[in-house]
Amino acid sequence: MSFRARLTTFFVLIVVVPMVAIGVLMFSLINDSQQGKADARAGGLAAEAASLYQSEAASARADAETLARAVGSARGKSLSVRFKTLASQAGLARATLSDASRTLVDVGDHTAIAPGSVIARDPAAGRSMAVMVSELTASQYARELSSPGVAVLVRDGPRILASTVALPRSAAPPAAGNVTVDGKGYRAVSQTFTGFGRAPVTVTVLSALSATATSLGGSRGVAVALIVAFLALAFGFSLLASRALQGRLSGFLEAARRLGSGDFSSPVKVEGNDEFAALGAEFNSMSSELSRRLDELSRERVRLREAIRRIGHTFASSLDRPALLELALKTAVDAVQGSGGRISVRASDDEPLAETGREGSLAGLEDVVRDAERAALTNGGIGEAHNAAVSVAAVTLGSRETSQRAHGVISVARRGRPFTDDDLEVLRSLGAEAALALENIELHFQVRRQAVTDELTGLANHGRFQELLNAEIEQVRRYHHPIGLIMLDIDDFKVVNDTYGHPQGDAVLRHVARVLQENSRDADSPARYGGEELSLILPHTDLEGAHAIAERIRTAVDGLRVARTDGRGVLRVTASLGVAASTDGDKDALIADADEALYEAKRSGKNRTVSALARAADASGAG
Ligand code: GH3
Ligand code: MG
Ligand code: MG
Repeated sequence: MSFRARLTTFFVLIVVVPMVAIGVLMFSLINDSQQGKADARAGGLAAEAASLYQSEAASARADAETLARAVGSARGKSLSVRFKTLASQAGLARATLSDASRTLVDVGDHTAIAPGSVIARDPAAGRSMAVMVSELTASQYARELSSPGVAVLVRDGPRILASTVALPRSAAPPAAGNVTVDGKGYRAVSQTFTGFGRAPVTVTVLSALSATATSLGGSRGVAVALIVAFLALAFGFSLLASRALQGRLSGFLEAARRLGSGDFSSPVKVEGNDEFAALGAEFNSMSSELSRRLDELSRERVRLREAIRRIGHTFASSLDRPALLELALKTAVDAVQGSGGRISVRASDDEPLAETGREGSLAGLEDVVRDAERAALTNGGIGEAHNAAVSVAAVTLGSRETSQRAHGVISVARRGRPFTDDDLEVLRSLGAEAALALENIELHFQVRRQAVTDELTGLANHGRFQELLNAEIEQVRRYHHPIGLIMLDIDDFKVVNDTYGHPQGDAVLRHVARVLQENSRDADSPARYGGEELSLILPHTDLEGAHAIAERIRTAVDGLRVARTDGRGVLRVTASLGVAASTDGDKDALIADADEALYEAKRSGKNRTVSALARAADASGAG
């Protein structure tokens, strides 16, 4: 049931129910008053009837006296004749003369009423005689009294003397109270008077109820009209009131919906200074406060995104991997107001994560953190885990766009407040930025490695060889400690290529390069000088030491068994090595000496080591 319907029902209940009660009361009062009116009217008519009857009786009594006197002392037959004559001359309705035992004369209408009587004394006879006369018949009397709405019934015991209404023969004569005669309602009032006979004359005055009923109907009509008007008014008012209330409530409802959908532009209308106005004002201030907070929040978010973007730039320009990881972790914890966090990385997909940095406290949260990290790695993005008090969000350091493997995972713990979608989005973009930066670093070093590394052998290339030698020569010039240089050339390499193909040559080259690498110390720098010619720079090494190393290398190459690419057994190769050393820091001379020694080794039969000094000694010895 809507609020409006309830309000209307409420109004109807509190207005209609009492109004109906008032109506009933009013009707009953009107009824009572109409009954009273009918009573009063009937009473008045009865009094009129009584007064008429009595005045007629009094007048009849005077006639009786006159008659008694006129009759005088006549007696016997003459008395009776005289009485009759006088009575008819006087125009009386009825006249009777009786002595103590019987009626002597009775002339006139037997329905006459309201008699007056005198006792005439007959001195001669010594007897008393009663003269009783009447001027009025019952029907005259009834006609006299009756008027529209008034009926008269005159009875003499059970005998009806006169009636102005048609009474059915079987109808019980009305006595008093409300009666219905001939289909009409009357209020009856009966009175008895003295008549001629032994039984008294009963006069019943019937006043029609319809006379008062019309006014009664009028009053009722007015009452009904009043009640209906009042009810209509009340109903209209309740409709208006509930509509007005409903209007204001729906105003609030709409405003609340607008707020809910983030529209703070139109406030609630505040009219008057009732509770609704107060509520509206309160609502508006709440709305503006909310809007202010949201603005603040969105500014904060913009600020945060800007910070992340800046950090992304910092990341991008950084080549310091540990520093970058530390900054990423710190930013992640700050960005979502975490209580602590850690960063774990791995070198490849198969390796387990290893923690490389920690921020704040993660005491007792290791399991939850691990769960979150596992979830993040499984989802390839964000993972979450919770315990009763702490939420942990983990984000992989891998860009979704390139779907590359994750370099690691940053996890952040926060107490009390679970992470929102916004928080997770911030972490996600931070993870992506950091991953991008890590890839940049890796790429940078890869490019750098490629620039100085020979791809086939993994040794330093010619350019790098020159750089390294320059640096070492610088040291030699400054400190005058010796530097050794070995030049190695594979014997009859062309034959290998020609016989077994170029890939076989490559494989041989790689094997020999590995021998060189395995026989060099940390400070030594093996390089591919060019083609199948390799070199080894030996800092702090004199010619003798360099020769020993070269000889060891030569022996190792001689011992190599390189698998044939066609799968038919193995190959054996040999190499020739030239060794030189310098303490004066003449780089070109050092290279030329080593080269010369190598040439000498080739010339004197290959698979041998020749030292420059020895060559010089030989040369001087020979020369
Ligand atoms: P020697 O004993 O006098 O050194 O004879 P050699 O055949 O080794 O001499 P030469 O310098 O004429 O041949 C070198 C060959 O090495 C020529 C070239 O095709 C080959 N070579 C140079 N670089 C590579 C390489 O990277 N891979 C392969 N497979 N062959 C290479
Ligand atoms: Mg060569
Ligand atoms: Mg060669």
